[in-house]
Amino acid sequence: MSVGREFRQARYSEPLIFELSQVEKRETHLPDDLLPDNLARSSLPEIPVLSEGEIVRHYTRLSQMNYGVDSGFYPLGSCTMKYTPKILEEIACWEEITDVHPYQSETGIQGVLEIMYALQNMLKEIAGMETVSLQPAAGAHGEFTGLLIAKAYHELNKEKRTEVVIPDTAHGTNPASATMAGFDVVQIPSKEGCVDLDALRKAVTEKTACFMLTNPNTLGIFDPNILEIAEIVHRKGALLYYDGANLNALLGRARPGDMNFDIVHFNLHKTFGAPHGGGGPGSGPVGTNKKLAQFLPVPIVEFDPKAGRYYLDYGRKHSIGKVKLFYGNFPVLLKAYLYIRLMGSNGLREVSEFSVLNANYMLKKLKDYFDFPYGGNRMHEFVLSGRKLKEKNARTLDAAKMLMDRGLHAPTVYFPAIVEEALMIEPTETEPKREMDKFVEALIEIAKAPVHDYLLENTSVSRVDEVKASRDLILSWKMMEK
Ligand SMILES: *Cc1c(COP(=O)(O)O)cnc(C)c1O
Repeated sequence: MSVGREFRQARYSEPLIFELSQVEKRETHLPDDLLPDNLARSSLPEIPVLSEGEIVRHYTRLSQMNYGVDSGFYPLGSCTMKYTPKILEEIACWEEITDVHPYQSETGIQGVLEIMYALQNMLKEIAGMETVSLQPAAGAHGEFTGLLIAKAYHELNKEKRTEVVIPDTAHGTNPASATMAGFDVVQIPSKEGCVDLDALRKAVTEKTACFMLTNPNTLGIFDPNILEIAEIVHRKGALLYYDGANLNALLGRARPGDMNFDIVHFNLHKTFGAPHGGGGPGSGPVGTNKKLAQFLPVPIVEFDPKAGRYYLDYGRKHSIGKVKLFYGNFPVLLKAYLYIRLMGSNGLREVSEFSVLNANYMLKKLKDYFDFPYGGNRMHEFVLSGRKLKEKNARTLDAAKMLMDRGLHAPTVYFPAIVEEALMIEPTETEPKREMDKFVEALIEIAKAPVHDYLLENTSVSRVDEVKASRDLILSWKMMEK
């Protein structure tokens, strides 16, 4: 029997909440004496007016048309949609946490500071860095912060370095962050899926501020030349930046610091216990080695052993300043702290073991049905090419839709751009074998079968007009009304 034929996603013709709202009905039903006159609004805000029950039904229906890691397998490469334990959410909702206010005095929030201090130390240890700032709110924000640090460092040395070198396998946020930080981006090609050393030697000059690298890269390949790469970059006085958005494959086994990286950002929401999607919630701490430690954003949590208390240190000599309000995205920091504490160092080593094992298990079963560029084994994720699907007039996008039709989330598609018709699969360490097998079976069936046989239209939304969606940006109700 073919996989997923029984799957049906809820499908409602659900209007926008603004369309559901009947504006004429707008009136309050609060008793007159409930609010003193000086607190009551004279004009009502322009929001939809519906009863509580109507609102609950609206959002319940929308949630039933949704798909998340709590509904099924979600192998979205590079995004690391691992399952994260619910106990972390529960603890993050404790009053002791939610009732803390950022304006409270340090004496009143010693426990919170202790958690942040401990997390800084754990991240330093995991990445082999000297200092960590918990401020940045996402991976891209961490990159931006790291690049500002690189900029401040070179400026202090009176060097004018205007370029950031990036390989063609990089995540799209790398060139975007470099551009935002005011650098010119120099892209270099890859060779056999790794950094082309000759191209790197040519690209890195006295104008280079830093080289940004993900290792393992977005193909899931660990670059074996990393020490030589570091040497090429450092010999020219440039810095080496580690995009550590996804550290799963390295946890407890290898450290960017030991590979001679100078700056690292972490995605706590990808590697450590915070569920994420649709743009949040995230946290992208940045770590540096000793020579850059004075440039980090403030405050950093420190401990005064004499007084036996934690405090917020604003005294970094060359700090780039603040990059976020207050002290970072605390609920995500807390969940990362809890995750690391609950896993322990053996648990973290198991994360890397199983994330790599799962990816290679799926790779082995799938690679004969697709093109598999560059061969070999992979780390926590792998990239196939759906090029052969063209023979039957289909594309990777069709394969992705067919997977969704079977109740399985599609992998990342068309990224990295160096692989034609890319399918980027990251099972993560939390996926049971049964679910991976189901996905493999469905994808093999899709690769083998004539395409018209397999368009089932079982999802609540089948095909969206992607060109219109990106050209005709309507992002709010106000824009829609116009
Ligand atoms: C996700 C990701 C980023 C960006 O992280 P965000 O938190 O989404 O901003 C950067 N680099 C890589 C390799 C990633 O996978």
